[in-house]
Amino acid sequence: MQELEKRLKLVRKKINKAAGRIGRDSSEIKLVAVSKQQPMEKIRFFLEKGIKIFGESRAQELREKQKEFSDCDISWHFIGHLQRNKVKYLVRMANCTLIHSLDSLRLAREIDKRARKNGRVVPVLVQVNTARDENKYGIMPEDTIDFLSKIKDLEHISVRGLMTLVPYFDDPGEARPYFHCLADLRETGREMGFELAELSMGMTSDFEVAIEEGSTMVRIGRALFGPRDY
Ligand SMILES: *Cc1c(COP(=O)(O)O)cnc(C)c1O
Repeated sequence: MQELEKRLKLVRKKINKAAGRIGRDSSEIKLVAVSKQQPMEKIRFFLEKGIKIFGESRAQELREKQKEFSDCDISWHFIGHLQRNKVKYLVRMANCTLIHSLDSLRLAREIDKRARKNGRVVPVLVQVNTARDENKYGIMPEDTIDFLSKIKDLEHISVRGLMTLVPYFDDPGEARPYFHCLADLRETGREMGFELAELSMGMTSDFEVAIEEGSTMVRIGRALFGPRDY
C-alpha cells in the first residue's frame, strides 16, 4: 500500500507540474482512477486517500464493484465501449455519473430511452476517433459537430464534452496532435453553442501532454494501481 501512496503522490505532482507549465490551475483537472481489472482493496485505499471518481470499462465489472462500495461517497465513470444491451444496467446506477464513450446515434437513443424510464438525465461525453483508426470506436472528427446536432434534442442525455483515446506512442509528444484536434473540435462546438465543458483525454502514458493541450479529465490506471491483473 506504501507503493500506492507513492504512485498517487507522483501522479498528483505530475498533474500539478503539467498544469503549471501552461499556467493552468490543477484544480480544474479531474483525476479519474481507472480501476478496471484492479482489486477492491486498492480501490478502497484510493477512496480513503480522497479519490472520488473511478473509471471502469465493462458494465458487468462495474456492477460488481459498485455493490461493494454502495455505502461510500464515490462516482463511477464508464469509459469503455458500451453495448446497447448493457445501457440499462448503467442507467439504473445513480452513482454512475458519466459515460465517456458515446460513439453512435443508436447508443445515444438507447441511453436516452433508458434514462427517460428511470427519470434521469444522464451526462455523457462524445468519444471522438481523433486518430481515425478504423479499429477504434468513436465519431470521426469531421462528423462530430453534425453528431452533436443530431443528439441535441434527446432530452434525457446531457452532453458535457468530448473524449478521445489515442494510440500508444513511446514518445508521448506524438500524441499531441490528437489532443490538439479534440481541443479544436471543442472550440468549434462552443462557437456553435454547444456547452462542452469537459475534455477527457490523457492516460498513464500521455496525461502530461494531454493536460498541456487542455484536458479537464485524465483517466489514469496503471500509474496509480500498477499493472492490471489480466
Ligand atoms: C484502460 C483505460 C485507461 C487507463 O489506461 P492506463 O494506461 O492504465 O492509464 C484510460 N482510458 C480508457 C478508455 C481505458 O480503457
